[in-house]
Formats: sequence, C-alpha cells, structure tokens
Amino acid sequence: MRLSRYFLPVLKEDPSEAQIVSHKLMLRAGMIRQQSAGIYVWLPLGLKVLRNIERIVREEQNRAGAIELLMPTIQSADLWRESGRYDAYGPEMLRFRDRHDREILYGPTNEEMITAVFRDNAKSYRDLPKIFYHIQWKFRDEVRPRFGVMRGREFLMKDAYSFDLDPAGAKRSYDAMFVAYLRTFARLGMVAVPVRAPTGPIGGNLSHEFHILADTGESELFYDAAVEEITLNELAGATPGSEIVERLQSIYAMESEEHEKVADCPVPADKLRRRRGIEVGHIFYFGPKYSAAMGCTVQGPDGTPVHPEMGSYGIGVSRLVGGIIEASHDENGIIWPEEVAPYKVGLINMRVDDARCAAAADDLYEKLAHAGVEVLYDDRDERGGAKFATMDLIGIPTQVIVGPKGLEKGVVEVKDRKTGAREELTIEAALNRLTA
Ligand code: ATP
Ligand code: MG
Repeated sequence: MRLSRYFLPVLKEDPSEAQIVSHKLMLRAGMIRQQSAGIYVWLPLGLKVLRNIERIVREEQNRAGAIELLMPTIQSADLWRESGRYDAYGPEMLRFRDRHDREILYGPTNEEMITAVFRDNAKSYRDLPKIFYHIQWKFRDEVRPRFGVMRGREFLMKDAYSFDLDPAGAKRSYDAMFVAYLRTFARLGMVAVPVRAPTGPIGGNLSHEFHILADTGESELFYDAAVEEITLNELAGATPGSEIVERLQSIYAMESEEHEKVADCPVPADKLRRRRGIEVGHIFYFGPKYSAAMGCTVQGPDGTPVHPEMGSYGIGVSRLVGGIIEASHDENGIIWPEEVAPYKVGLINMRVDDARCAAAADDLYEKLAHAGVEVLYDDRDERGGAKFATMDLIGIPTQVIVGPKGLEKGVVEVKDRKTGAREELTIEAALNRLTA
C-alpha cells in the first residue's frame, strides 16, 4: 500500500480525551475514531489489526475442534424470557421495539440463542460433544465506557459454547478451550495469566479469566510468582493433556476480591505478587443451567432425555487491540508483535524528488509485494523526520529506509522497530531477508 493513496490520519499531539497509552496511540496512529460514547469507527489501519487478531483467534478455535457459525446481533426478548435473564440482565442490555411493537434487543452475549439452536436441531447423544463459536459484535450499555476500545459499548467478541453429555465431557471441552486460549494469546505475543474466577452460586463449576499484566488494567490480581516463569514458547506449544495445562489450572492467581476471601493463602508472602491485569478472555463451565431452563434435551445412550452440560468461552477481540498496545509500546509509539502487525514492512523513500531514490524504492516495493510481503510504502513528499516518526508511531515491525547516501554505496537501511537496531544491507540482501 502506498501511503500517498492510503487513509492514515495520524495526530501529532496526544488527544486530551484519552487517559491511557493504548487509547492515545490508537487515536494518534489513525486506527480508530470515536463515533459516540464507547462506539468507534475502525479506520483502515485499525481494522487490519483487528482482522489479524480475529484470524488468529479463529485458527486456534478451529484447531481446538470448535465449529464456526454466525448468530445475529439482534435477538428477541422472548428468547431471553425463556432463561429468565430478560428481566435479570439490567440496564447494560439495549432494548428496543420493531415496527410491529415486538420487543427486541442488541445481543450482549448468546447463551440463550445457541441453546435454542441446539435444542431445535440436535436430537441424540450422538450429536454431542459440540463446541460452536462465532465472532460477532456485541452491545453492552456500560455505565462507564472508557479507555477507548478496552471498555466499549459496541465491541467485537469471540464467544464459544460447548455441549456435552456429562461433566467429564464438559471438562474435556473446557480444557480444549483453555489450551486454545493459551495458544491464541501466545501467538498474539502475550502471556495471559489464567486467573481462577468466582463461579457464582452453583457449586462445582469452573471458570478462569485470562489477564494481560499491565499497570493500566482494571483488575487487581494476586498471583504466585511462578506465573512469571511461563514462557511464550511453552504456551504456544500447549496441547490438551500437556503438563502446562495442569500447571496453569492449579497455579494460584486470583482477583483481589476473591483473594481477600481466601482464609489460608497457599502462597508464601515472598512469592505472592500483586499487579494489575486486563481481562482479555473468560471461560466458564456452568453445567445444565441454560439447557434445563430452556428445555434443551437430547436422547441419552439409554433412551432417557438428558440436558447437555454447557460452557461458554469469550475473548474480547477488539479489547485485545488495546491490550496488546498496553503490553507492547515505547515512547515513540506502538510495537506490533509480528503476527498482528497491520503491515510487516514499512518502506520509506527519503527523497521522492530524487529519481534514483524513487526508482529504487518503487522497485523494492514491487518486488516485496510480488513476494507476498505486506508493505506500507511511504512515498509521500514529506520530510524524512516526519516519515520516521510516523513509522515508529504505527509500529510496523521492520522498516526499510531508501536514501540517496545509501544508494551511492549500493545499500538501504533496515531497522528493527522493537530493538531500534539498524543495519545496512544491499538491496538484494534486504530483499532476501524480508522475503525469507
Ligand atoms: P468485564 O469484567 O471486563 O466487564 P465481562 O466479565 O463482562 O468483562 P464476559 O461477559 O466474560 O466479560 O465477555 C468476554 C470478554 O469480552 C471479556 O473477557 C472481555 O475481554 C470482553 N469484553 C467484555 N466487556 C467488554 C467491553 N465493554 N468492551 C470490550 N470488551 C469487552
Ligand atoms: Mg462486563
């Protein structure tokens, strides 16, 4: 993509409405614009990142055996009356009426709908186990939308729902999602700590929240220092039954309110850490709560009807964009982990008025594009300093700088955004490196 033809409205100054760094940087880097409180337009650069995260989430859901479908954003009030949640949900739910005066709502989550779909279309235990997921916009009329996409009102979520014949099966589904989450966050370049979450009044349930450690997180966590020894490699290679799963499910990590309730903390004081976290995922095993309330049964192996054991599994896809920035930036801007970067290479032509520079940069651009490398090519008539600042701000992992001095020596400069390391390479060598 040539920057001269793109739409990248960067801001030089920190916008006053933003309190945390990810929100500031997303506005400054031209990724989002607020439309109304907690509702954002995803500008082209922001959308590319969102789509990359979505793709990784989808790949890991598929790998775990979950099946993608797509449920609508609009739901009927009657569906929610079946579970009893229409009245229980409260003002976070956006409720309205259609032209026939039927009560409808913008879905804040989809347990009811998926339970109805399964109830109406599955008949026997042979239809189990199943995990369904979709990646869809949600609306929650949050009391205090803030921090940009971190706590929006309209936000993109991956939500999955499992159906199993018995609790042992449900635990296998839960573990499959647990593994998918470890792998997903690791591929996004982050260690997300599984935190034991409160499970409400029904005993025997199981729930974990996944938190990115960051000072700007809304939750306060207490955890065993052993958490800090977990490596991205271990997480990225997690499989069902692998030792890391057992280890992480039993490791001590809790939100402060839960930690306060623990009479005897098993972690000695010098090993107990306290930090803030951003909740990026939440998995929940809740048994037959919805299947029983909504009359969802399948015929069991012995002919008697069974309410499937269910779980639900959310990932905040749009929140992750902000969360990744909180965990990965410096004073000059964003530092995208390779897999989510909107472009892999940022190509800078230092002198558009120099025919030799322009020809060399154009040629490099064509060759990289031809090799399938996603390049953002700054071909604008701007000062070099402004171009460097923009590339640093938007966080593309590798920069290639083509200037007249280098070309005289037959080289271009290759800069690593994360380390700042610069290297002079021949055009040939740079091409080889970037297409490897
Ligand atoms: P929170 O405690 O942050 O409000 P939640 O418990 O309401 O989260 P879930 O209902 O489990 O969240 O939703 C699944 C995931 O969706 C969360 O882990 C989070 O990453 C994301 N999410 C929830 N609410 C929002 C929001 N208002 N804006 C952006 N992402 C959100
Ligand atoms: Mg919430």
